[in-house]
Amino acid sequence: PEAITIQDLANRMAERAVDVIKLLMKQGQMLKINDVIDADTAELIAEEMGHTVKRVSEADVEDGLFSDEVEADELLQPRPPVVTIMGHVDHGKTSLLDALRRSNVVSGESGGITQHIGAYQVEQGGHKITFIDTPGHAAFTQMRARGAKSTDIVILVVAADDGVMPQTREAISHAKAAGVPMIVAINKMDKPAADPTRVRTELLQDEIVVESMGGDVIEVEVSALKGTNLDKLLEMILLQAEVLELKANPDRTAEGTVIEAQLDKGRGPVATVLVQKGTLKVGDILVAGSEWGRVRAMLDENSEQVKEAGPSKPVEVLGFQGTPEAGDMVAVVENEARAREIVDYRQRQKREKATLRDIGSRGSLEQMMN
Ligand code: GDP
Ligand code: MG
Repeated sequence: PEAITIQDLANRMAERAVDVIKLLMKQGQMLKINDVIDADTAELIAEEMGHTVKRVSEADVEDGLFSDEVEADELLQPRPPVVTIMGHVDHGKTSLLDALRRSNVVSGESGGITQHIGAYQVEQGGHKITFIDTPGHAAFTQMRARGAKSTDIVILVVAADDGVMPQTREAISHAKAAGVPMIVAINKMDKPAADPTRVRTELLQDEIVVESMGGDVIEVEVSALKGTNLDKLLEMILLQAEVLELKANPDRTAEGTVIEAQLDKGRGPVATVLVQKGTLKVGDILVAGSEWGRVRAMLDENSEQVKEAGPSKPVEVLGFQGTPEAGDMVAVVENEARAREIVDYRQRQKREKATLRDIGSRGSLEQMMN
């Protein structure tokens, strides 16, 4: 937005806000410190006060931060699939995530006290699979809002004794809209009332035709409770991943997405980052949304320190100055000055947007009073 508060303008010139207000007053404008002036007025004021004006555009600051070029084939290496579990409430999403995790989590050298970091990797036949351990719907809403694609495959969990329900349909439309392939896990097969045929038939209404009905959507009958067929589910994920030919270049500066983040009392801001391109290293300087930091330490889901994290690897990152938000895109930059420049710019944009919103609502309030 081409507008700025008087306070912000004064700060950026390292002048007193009161002097800016005086100058505006001379020009016949009676304004207060939190009032907003347009960019042209701000430029006149700045010049009047002896400053040279350089308008910084988004392109100046943001360009080159994320690589949009297609990388040469010979630089690409296979990477693990990133999987999100979705489905209707109580159909067994959490149970399935827990069961998969218990059975196959890549065991840590220290014996593996696993910790919730919002994502984890399991191993099946020497291949890794990354599971995002946060509510799938939230992940997809964030993905859509920020344009970050952080899921390769959706596991659609449908309880065999309950069938297709409203949130099942919602999950299907999320996955379809994002163009992410689905694998149907028909869960709770241990229950006497389980009726997988009904599930398959109901899915037809949403144009999901599973393989046993002649379609091409993979389905697996499982029981999260009894641990039945979980290996088969993992194999099917790997099969689907093979078809997708998932690849990334590990030999470049890292890019990724924040899966979750919080302020930890002892450790400061802690963000779980899913690395998507390149390799994230201890000591790297990164920006995520309107926060930046220098990677002080990285921990995997076994609470073990790692020095590096390549494509599809989720890691807890310590060293952020502030707490980023889930869904924020992460990029490594060359130095602290560049990180500060980007973050200053984004924080300013955020403030200006908030101010404009504020004025917008004040305006409508005034209209209501008239
Ligand atoms: P979510 O809301 O989709 O995360 O579902 P939960 O994982 O919390 O499971 C809801 C309920 O279904 C819990 O009481 C689970 O114990 C139960 N449940 C989950 N999977 C199975 C299963 O395979 N068999 C049976 N019998 N119960 C299950
Ligand atoms: Mg749950």
